[in-house]
Amino acid sequence: MSELQNLDKTYIANTYSRFPVELVYGMGSEVFDVNGKRYIDMGTGIGVTAFGISDPEWTQAVTNQLTKLQHTSNLYYTEPCAFLAKLLCEKTGMKKVFFANSGAEANECAIKTARKYAAEKKGADYYTIITLQNSFHGRTITTLAATGQEHYHELFQPLTQGFVHTPANDFEALKETALEHKTAAIMIECVQGEGGVIALESDFVKKTAEFAKENDILLIVDEVQTGNGRSGKLYAYMNYDIMPDIVTTAKGIGGGLPLGAALLGEKVEFTLGAGDHGSTFGGNPVSCAGAISVISRIDEALLSEVKQKSEYIFNALKDADGVESVSGLGLMIGIKTTKPARDIVNKCIENGVLCLTAKDKVRLLPALNIPMDILCEAIEIIKSACAN
Ligand SMILES: *Cc1c(COP(=O)(O)O)cnc(C)c1O
Repeated sequence: MSELQNLDKTYIANTYSRFPVELVYGMGSEVFDVNGKRYIDMGTGIGVTAFGISDPEWTQAVTNQLTKLQHTSNLYYTEPCAFLAKLLCEKTGMKKVFFANSGAEANECAIKTARKYAAEKKGADYYTIITLQNSFHGRTITTLAATGQEHYHELFQPLTQGFVHTPANDFEALKETALEHKTAAIMIECVQGEGGVIALESDFVKKTAEFAKENDILLIVDEVQTGNGRSGKLYAYMNYDIMPDIVTTAKGIGGGLPLGAALLGEKVEFTLGAGDHGSTFGGNPVSCAGAISVISRIDEALLSEVKQKSEYIFNALKDADGVESVSGLGLMIGIKTTKPARDIVNKCIENGVLCLTAKDKVRLLPALNIPMDILCEAIEIIKSACAN
């Protein structure tokens, strides 16, 4: 084991099982390790570096802001966070934005907003939030409670109360559960990411949105992973022709700096008042300046490129040797392989490609602007790793 790996093992909490790769620098969709070995980046730091590593426009936006003002607290006005909020609202029809620093925190804001909305409108006992089995919403005690995967819950009890999980794509079960409880909100990921890159059925999502609206139950869409162009639309809910009340996002929005956002629709625009919520770092001007450069470049041309590359990957992999199935939406792709996913990822590392896993699948989240020739090269390496 190298000196760095030893140091890390000694002093870093044991929460991650890292691959034996020491990354030093990168450019676009290529990243290099300490020995100068090149890897094609098919994971983008779990869907974060949306335009690749050290993308020139993003780097320029961030350094410009960094040399002016790196932080102010939320006691004062700064341009980047107000400009970014305007951009997000204009592109989604949402009314207001709360900025946080991560996905879990964006979801915490959504949950607090939903509870306050329901408490004021229907009564303090209307606090239940319905989420789906196999979902993932974060690692804080509350977002863990929202996460519909029992194995994350063990040994961390008691979790925050008021979350009930129902099966994905079973509208009748969801409706029954929502009516059985005093329900404040329903929270979904349009494509379950950590759960195995599984897109929800369109009929289920539409019926859920209609039911929520009819019953004045808030619809929260967790777009932490699916958002910011990843699905082939700016936000994945736009593939389903619905209008959520709250959209949460993080990961790709900051392009590599920590940033989360809860976008608040018409119903909840004024729910949170002064003092109800806050974050010291939320809306940091450097993170927001980077995010403006990300969000303003996600236009129709880029999104159609995302869809073309998605089609190429699906077609290249669906009948490949050792591939059982391919799932997902846009550049958020899950590959069920006959060999264990972790073995495939290790084989890919050997051959110069970085991939992710999600449950028993190999997961790909390449940069939205990955050049076609580099993408083709990576897919060939992934195919040969999957082959029996
Ligand atoms: C990653 C993820 C989160 C948690 O985001 P953090 O930034 O790690 O807190 C929440 N929801 C979904 C859908 C995610 O993919």
